[in-house]
Amino acid sequence: MGMAAPVKIIAVGDELLEGRTLDSNSRDIQRALGGHAVQVELVQMVPDRQDAIVQALDRTTEGDLVFMCGGLGSTPDDLTREAVAVWGGVDLPEDERAMEMIRARYRRRGRAMHPVVARQARVPAGLRPVANPVGSAPGLVGRLRGRHLILLPGFPAELNGLLPLMVAELRGSGLLPAEGRVLTYRLAQITELALVDLCRPVMDSHPGLKWSWWVTDWGVDLRVAAPGGCADDAMPQEMADALEAALGHHVFSRRDQDLAAVVQKMMLARAATCGVAESCTGGLIGGALTANPGSSGFFRGGFLVYADDAKSKLLEVGEADLAGHGAVSEPVARAMAAGCRRKLGCDYALAVSGISGPGGGTEGKPVGTTWVAVATPSALFAHCYRFPADRRRNRLLTVAAALDSLRRVLQFGDDADPWSLTAAWDFRA
Ligand code: ATP
Ligand code: MG
Repeated sequence: MGMAAPVKIIAVGDELLEGRTLDSNSRDIQRALGGHAVQVELVQMVPDRQDAIVQALDRTTEGDLVFMCGGLGSTPDDLTREAVAVWGGVDLPEDERAMEMIRARYRRRGRAMHPVVARQARVPAGLRPVANPVGSAPGLVGRLRGRHLILLPGFPAELNGLLPLMVAELRGSGLLPAEGRVLTYRLAQITELALVDLCRPVMDSHPGLKWSWWVTDWGVDLRVAAPGGCADDAMPQEMADALEAALGHHVFSRRDQDLAAVVQKMMLARAATCGVAESCTGGLIGGALTANPGSSGFFRGGFLVYADDAKSKLLEVGEADLAGHGAVSEPVARAMAAGCRRKLGCDYALAVSGISGPGGGTEGKPVGTTWVAVATPSALFAHCYRFPADRRRNRLLTVAAALDSLRRVLQFGDDADPWSLTAAWDFRA
């Protein structure tokens, strides 16, 4: 297997340089390439100016795979095709195939085409259009001055509609190497440091591999890749098994599924239902559980109970518990989960009650103190966390902790305390 061509990305748009828009397109391009043994060497953000786009192209070299995004629209600030033609020293004629793709799109939508949209049919000589499944501007691909160019629209939805087609095509024509072996693990209720400790023995015995990890909303993701299109034996099964054993029950996905999707799959597989009672997350747990299509097949509903009397009226939380222990307490979290399960008639219920901050903390219950309870058909578990972050992150950590606790119960059994399994998360009280 030969070495992969270096990848360079050029994101075009004033909004990227003025702090109005985060360049998520470059990230999405890198992700789309992520399964391949490719090296992204340079990501440039440039304004909507022809000279700036030309300069960025000058920073590429022969043999590069150059992804460009943005500036393919029909407004006067869309200059990518012009800049590419100027840089390449080629004409920019109207392309009949591109024109037909654009016309077809307008026909499907039953709309008249604004005359300026015809600009989108102009294609630098040497490139060819690829139909855009989401928007009107076609993607453009081809070789110019020894580079392989892939031009994509700026709208993230359009870019992401075209990317899989482009990547498949590049693989088909041998411009991207076949997928190297990559192990991916998504973990919850663990810190980066704890993750590295767990991996250390395997890392030390396989120094040739590329290890990366990063914090996500759900926990930490881990990726292990054999560099530069190595043969499979760089990552023997024995190593994958050792790693799997070391990471244990922290792993909720071996692909790119998020925690909510994993929980949904498990719930649907056993035809079980669940509900939520949220006090500090204001609906974020219900929002996460309903983010994926098909969620109404298991999610029965939820309660947003902030006031004490809302907790007692809607969920029958005992007034004595509320008065005696406070809303952020074990008895209240347990009563919320049990009440939610009873009221909704669901198999499982999650309840959370916590202090997200910045105010509201006391000496006994500092900011970040959060009770999470899980009711199952046969048991009721609760656990206290001390999240260390600001309001936004504390709430996200609560969502992750709650969903992962439900995932553990689903995975290890209704009578298995999800918090007896591990102490690897520093945020546990
Ligand atoms: P198109 O070729 O689809 O017309 P464009 O650059 O010409 O792309 P714009 O109107 O400039 O279109 O941008 C479309 C939208 O996409 C804007 O909301 C813009 O903020 C967003 N966008 C453009 N580039 C990026 C990027 N790199 N990352 C995230 N969003 C982007
Ligand atoms: Mg733009």
